[in-house]
Order: sequence, then C-alpha cells, then structure tokens
Amino acid sequence: MKIEDQALAAAYAHAREAYPEEACGLLLGDRGGSGVDEARRCENTQNALHTEDPAANPRDARMAYSLGPKDLFFLDKSQRGERPARVVYHSHVEVGAYFSAKDRDDALLFGEPRFPVDYLVVDVKRAGGVVRALGAKLFRWDGAEFVEVAAYPGEA
Ligand SMILES: [Zn+2]
Repeated sequence: MKIEDQALAAAYAHAREAYPEEACGLLLGDRGGSGVDEARRCENTQNALHTEDPAANPRDARMAYSLGPKDLFFLDKSQRGERPARVVYHSHVEVGAYFSAKDRDDALLFGEPRFPVDYLVVDVKRAGGVVRALGAKLFRWDGAEFVEVAAYPGEA
C-alpha cells in the first residue's frame, strides 16, 4: 500500500488546519492500483455527539473523531466504485501517532473490521507558536489486532 506524497501532504495540511481539533478523512486510489493518491476531507462530528450526550461521548473533537453518516455512506459505497477509499486518516493533537483503544473500537464491528481499510494517524503538535504535522503511522488489522505497518516522516 503506497501513500503518494500529495495524499499524505493533504492529510497533513488538514491536520494542521483542524488543530486543536482532530481532522479526519479518507485516502482514495484507483481500483486497479494498490496505492492511494487523493485525500478527501470528512467532517469530524465528535463535537455534535459530545454536545448531544456528554455522558455517552465524554470526549470532544480535541480528543476524538467520528465520521458522520454521510461520510460513512461514501466510504462504504466507494468500496464498490472505481476509486475505493483504502485508508481512513485522523490526527492526534499533542499526543503522538498511536492507535488508541477508541480508534480500535470504532474500526471494529462485532470484533471484525467494519471496512477493508488501513488507518493512518497523523501526529500534530504546536511548538513555538507553529502547528506542524510531525509524522504519521499506518495501522492494519492482522486478523487479531491492529498493528503498525508503516511510518512516515513529518513535513520538512
Ligand atoms: Zn485516534
């Protein structure tokens, strides 16, 4: 699975712009190919979930992401189209690029992956007043757990 530079750069830019909230989106590629070359931004609906039911959704968009029904529909439908989403990306604000317990729960349905995709987590932090994407890690279901399969350098 190759993530082309422009797709990674677009995910990084989105992560920077969304700071201090988490950005989320999809990376798409041609059905015949094995990589992704385009980022599609999604709406992080976590703030709405948090406002509606803070007990059930204690985290707001600074600490979590949630894809809304529209984006989930697109993600699902794309699997049967010419440009399938192969990666779901989101950013982690100030905490580093790891796959959290919530990330794992969100990616699974009855213990199986909800979608045939990998997950890219972007590490975004502010230093000296400047927000930067410091790198990213790609996680893939290995049949029992999500494992890190690739790491990408941050912006120059
Ligand atoms: Zn996460």
